[in-house]
Amino acid sequence: APAQAAGVPGPARIPGVKHVIAVASGKGGVGKSTVAANLALALSATGAKVGLLDCDFYGPSIAMMFGSNERPTADDENNIIPVEREGLKLMSMGFLLEDDSPAVLRGPIVTRYTQQFLRQVTWAPLDYLVLDLPPGTGDIQLTIVQTIALSGAVIVTTPQEVALIDARKAVGMFERTNVPVLGIVENMSYFLCPSDGVRYNIFGEGGGQREAARLKVPLLGEIPIQIAVRESGDIGKPIVSADPEGVVAQEFIKIASQV
Ligand code: ADP
Repeated sequence: APAQAAGVPGPARIPGVKHVIAVASGKGGVGKSTVAANLALALSATGAKVGLLDCDFYGPSIAMMFGSNERPTADDENNIIPVEREGLKLMSMGFLLEDDSPAVLRGPIVTRYTQQFLRQVTWAPLDYLVLDLPPGTGDIQLTIVQTIALSGAVIVTTPQEVALIDARKAVGMFERTNVPVLGIVENMSYFLCPSDGVRYNIFGEGGGQREAARLKVPLLGEIPIQIAVRESGDIGKPIVSADPEGVVAQEFIKIASQV
């Protein structure tokens, strides 16, 4: 059972939000934010009302991925109104920072921001709130799993052993706090060379599949390395909205149908 400090209430729902789904990874740079953004868009494409919260206060990337530096406003009760892009409600520390400098924040302040972004943002009504967690299993992640009733977690990894080892730690955190692991998304699974059609397994092969089997959870999807995925993230229009008919968008639609 998770260690719950005396007097601290257990995980609670966010009023008006049906499902909260955490997107997590053990390591940084495996494409967690890319997966979170495109999963949110794929869920939205099914007609659901979707929000996306960037919980990575130290390295926020969601604002840039949606090409926005719009400042969120507040309502009469001082709740933050999320920024709307591509049909999603978005909140990220990136909207609040003056420039792109990483936030220098001490632990207790980060915990307060985390609570504020979950509780004092006008998310409702939503079918899904997707959380882009920071990599690893630090304070922010613990605050979230201990205070928010999560419907489940999606684990992002590359096929590489070092990424898989770290992903196991993230899985362990969710298991200890009784959050269902919905499955694994393997990112950067392969590169299909556009000129000769040859498939290169740049980071190895089958890691996600083996890990999913070991954990007895589904392998939700395999996302190839594509220049378009990186470019679309950089120009502020993630691949699911930039190229909705492409193989990557279709893979995200498949992932969305399983969460
Ligand atoms: P994380 O959130 O795990 O740190 P990001 O989603 O920020 O990772 O991705 C890191 C970098 O890799 C970004 O520049 C992103 O555009 C790029 N990237 C992620 N997934 C892919 C992919 N499948 N193909 C090409 N580039 C990718």
